[in-house]
Amino acid sequence: LLQLYGPLNFLGSVYSGIRTALVDLEHMLSLTEEDVEVADPAAPLPIATRLAGSAPARVAFEDVHFGYRPEREILHGISFAVQPGHKVAIVGSTGAGKSTISRLLFRFYDTWSGSVMVDGHDVRHYRQADLRAAIGVVPQDTVLFNDSIGYNIAYGRLGATPAQVEEAARLAQIHDFIMTLPEGYETQVGERGLKLSGGEKQRVAIARTILKDPRVLVLDEATSALDTHTEKEIQAALKTVSANRTTLVIAHRLSTIVDADEILVMGRGLVVERGTHAQLLAAQGHYAAMWAAQATGEG
Ligand code: ATP
Repeated sequence: LLQLYGPLNFLGSVYSGIRTALVDLEHMLSLTEEDVEVADPAAPLPIATRLAGSAPARVAFEDVHFGYRPEREILHGISFAVQPGHKVAIVGSTGAGKSTISRLLFRFYDTWSGSVMVDGHDVRHYRQADLRAAIGVVPQDTVLFNDSIGYNIAYGRLGATPAQVEEAARLAQIHDFIMTLPEGYETQVGERGLKLSGGEKQRVAIARTILKDPRVLVLDEATSALDTHTEKEIQAALKTVSANRTTLVIAHRLSTIVDADEILVMGRGLVVERGTHAQLLAAQGHYAAMWAAQATGEG
């Protein structure tokens, strides 16, 4: 039986290697499967990168109409602009079309009519890979690779030095936690490794995005509530990553967007109210009602 131990052990590690590869592949496919509907232009425009020292981007939606299926229009003419370095928040009931807006910004789909603009050009004029390299997202739920926590952060910019990875982790407020792990940055995470909490995973995503240094940032706030302490740490980390960066926040908790330059309140594919937090409270409409509901803990 002992003679079998070696080969079996070997087979076991081959198996787990294949499994890791499959999980990574699955993740990659889930990121790209939506690309089928859009095509790169024959003569793509170049898009500047922050790493090359360019200024924050300007993002605009101009009378955008869109639906996933021909018989059902989801966005009925959406217009807004995020000025370079500014922060715009989108709030509204479930199914209103908030995430659809971020999917159109990434050009996972093309609009039916109207334009999604980055740096003054329709996103159709850029190569998809270039567009997605210019936009960073901190998603609701981060997928971790079956690899070290260091690799999971470095993935934001392959080729980053260990010092750059550590700097990003510090800014994302995850470095101290990593130092408590048995193997530090080499600790295996993901399906087969250490399971991270929602808040820890989100900070890994923030560190990844800090390394990526995108010109446009999309924050898709988690619906599930984090405990107050974690929430505070995450908010501080998000502030660091969104500073002086064109930011679009899909928000569920109004307390996190009080400082936004503009808040769009969406209802059924339309912007029903817009303004700053103070303006919207004064207007005593939908937003003011949502604010009152959240303040009393109902929202
Ligand atoms: P939530 O706050 O619940 O995340 P949301 O405002 O982000 O909601 P969207 O995800 O943008 O809403 O969805 C808007 C509408 O589009 C919904 O009615 C939804 O059912 C529909 N929808 C979303 N994704 C698809 C899809 N892939 N195919 C068909 N319909 C979709």
